[in-house]
Amino acid sequence: MEGVKTAEGFHGVYLLNCVNPRYRGHTYIGYTVNPARRIKQHNGGVDKGGAHKTSRKKPWEMILIVHGFPNDVIALQFEWAWQNPQRTRRLKNMTGPRSKRTKESKVSHCFRILSELLQVGPWNRLSLTIRWLIQDYEIKFDPCRQPPIHMPIAYGPLKTVTSNSKTKNKKTEDDEICVSMYQSKRCCVCSRKMQTQDSTVHCPNQDCTMVVHTICLAKTFIEENHEDGLFVLPLQGKCSSCNLEYLWRDFVKPSETIQENPDLICDDDDDESHWTDVLKKT
Ligand SMILES: [Zn+2]
Ligand SMILES: [Zn+2]
Repeated sequence: MEGVKTAEGFHGVYLLNCVNPRYRGHTYIGYTVNPARRIKQHNGGVDKGGAHKTSRKKPWEMILIVHGFPNDVIALQFEWAWQNPQRTRRLKNMTGPRSKRTKESKVSHCFRILSELLQVGPWNRLSLTIRWLIQDYEIKFDPCRQPPIHMPIAYGPLKTVTSNSKTKNKKTEDDEICVSMYQSKRCCVCSRKMQTQDSTVHCPNQDCTMVVHTICLAKTFIEENHEDGLFVLPLQGKCSSCNLEYLWRDFVKPSETIQENPDLICDDDDDESHWTDVLKKT
């Protein structure tokens, strides 16, 4: 998979389970760019950056996270729908009650709602990963509500990469190699010369030299599947050069690691533009 472009930034929506004996079984759903830091904040209380709703009932365990959202907007929409299953119009056709069943635990209810949300647009198109951070809590998906096949189920914590000067230099070297490689190339779709600032991907097949603009490839796959005007993000498509079928997530690999920069402590995104910005406008 070397050289496959990673989607920029980590965006996850997580489920907390309360382990305070007085509030056992209470749950909380939230959004984060850094799960390890976020759980520390929740367990540290409001003065450490935790939410008001959770500070009284700590400690909490982060048991599940759905990650791979292309940007904060789409992740926050998912968070809201998961928190408000009875209000979101995305679940209006859901079979079964949106509210908690009498004998259902809060965690089971959250999981049942999650399995429904993963079936509906726009989220069913995304390259999401469902990750049990604590495997002991794992609940199996109902056979009729399996997540879409392009969404893997993973276990264990995510890797955090601390960016220090050493890794920064390493990244610059790699970037330079990529830049010189791309600059001599033209996009296989629009034939324009690749510019340094362009968001580009190349074929996951290591024997294939196909390079395209990320957005050009997305448009091609959408057209190929006759999904024009229906979706912005494709699910799969064929490489025009080697003719192999790939999932979209093979090209634009969702981030599996969290970049932790000690100098940056806020959850805000930077202002750099990203090819997924187009999704925010839809
Ligand atoms: Zn192009
Ligand atoms: Zn190819």
